[in-house]
Amino acid sequence: MEKQDLGRTEIASLGEFGLIEHLTKNFEIQNPSSHRGIGDDAAVIDNTGFLTVVSTDLLVEGVHFDLMYVPLKHLGYKSVVVNLSDIYAMNAQPKQITVSIAVSNRFSVEALDEFYEGVKLACKFYGVDLVGGDTTSSQKGFLISVTAIGQAKEEELVYRSGAKPGDLLCVTGDLGSAYLGLQILEREKQLYLSNPGIQPDMEEQDYLLGRFLKPEARKDMIDIFRQNKLVPTAMMDVSDGISSDLMHICKQSGVGAIIEEVGVPIHNDAKMQALKFKLDPLTCALNGGEDYELLFTVSPDDIEKIRLMPDIYIMGEITERSEGVKLHSSGGKIHDLVAQGWKHF
Ligand code: ADP
Ligand code: MG
Repeated sequence: MEKQDLGRTEIASLGEFGLIEHLTKNFEIQNPSSHRGIGDDAAVIDNTGFLTVVSTDLLVEGVHFDLMYVPLKHLGYKSVVVNLSDIYAMNAQPKQITVSIAVSNRFSVEALDEFYEGVKLACKFYGVDLVGGDTTSSQKGFLISVTAIGQAKEEELVYRSGAKPGDLLCVTGDLGSAYLGLQILEREKQLYLSNPGIQPDMEEQDYLLGRFLKPEARKDMIDIFRQNKLVPTAMMDVSDGISSDLMHICKQSGVGAIIEEVGVPIHNDAKMQALKFKLDPLTCALNGGEDYELLFTVSPDDIEKIRLMPDIYIMGEITERSEGVKLHSSGGKIHDLVAQGWKHF
């Protein structure tokens, strides 16, 4: 929740340059490739010997986040993490970020401090440097744009386009939990709006709420791939839900796929919560989104390597394009997989 009065400092009292200095003063450079960071007209990055990987996201209050239930510190952390996730999804290592914000005077300096606390935590945890950004005002609401910059050797890079028939279709972690966490927060928000005296009922939902409010990018998996000399044939991160994300891999690789229902990893808390909401757990897992897990394909020659890696699930197989994208249900039926995803428009 936003801080309302408790020691409120107006942004105007610092001015633009004072604010930038204030928000960025506690960030330390961790990577030798960050040749020059904040303070000049541009940052300078030295990626000698590596290809440079760049990804950017724009987050708009009321469209991508709701400050009624997302604490600013979590928002800062998540804004960085979702960008890093895109760099890891290329099998690359993020090294730098830039963070640009547009804020209205509804926000105090203390509120922005909380946001930057979250940004700093993510920088520290993932070993990336904040090397620049931009700061401006907005009429209403909060806008955040994060750009992540990473590096990889050419032969390590993994695109969406490399999947081949016969490859194993794998996913890390579990699916659908973040979506159910969001549904809990939305329910509590509606209850609160209709009865502001009510206490939120979110007991024992730590796992699902955490998956939505404080997602992690799978840096650990990229490190394990490297240690085991495994290079997936295709990869992407799961942001819209796999039924939609898998379509991208299939389209760009010119292949089909079949998912086995029994192979889709769903956390027990997610199953229970879906049933409480009278939702189908599988539908939540396939269409929920915001999981920030890695969806990837590997050559069947690598099956032994994959079997020995923690937290990876073989969910299905890549097929010929003519076979389409299918779901083999645990009841034995074969359905077309329909991409629902998250629509912003
Ligand atoms: P310019 O006028 O050239 O855009 P600014 O005065 O906006 O420069 O920025 C000065 C320095 O501070 C630059 O290095 C810029 O990248 C950095 N910077 C500005 N805003 C932010 C921010 N919100 N977070 C991190 N760095 C920032
Ligand atoms: Mg500027």
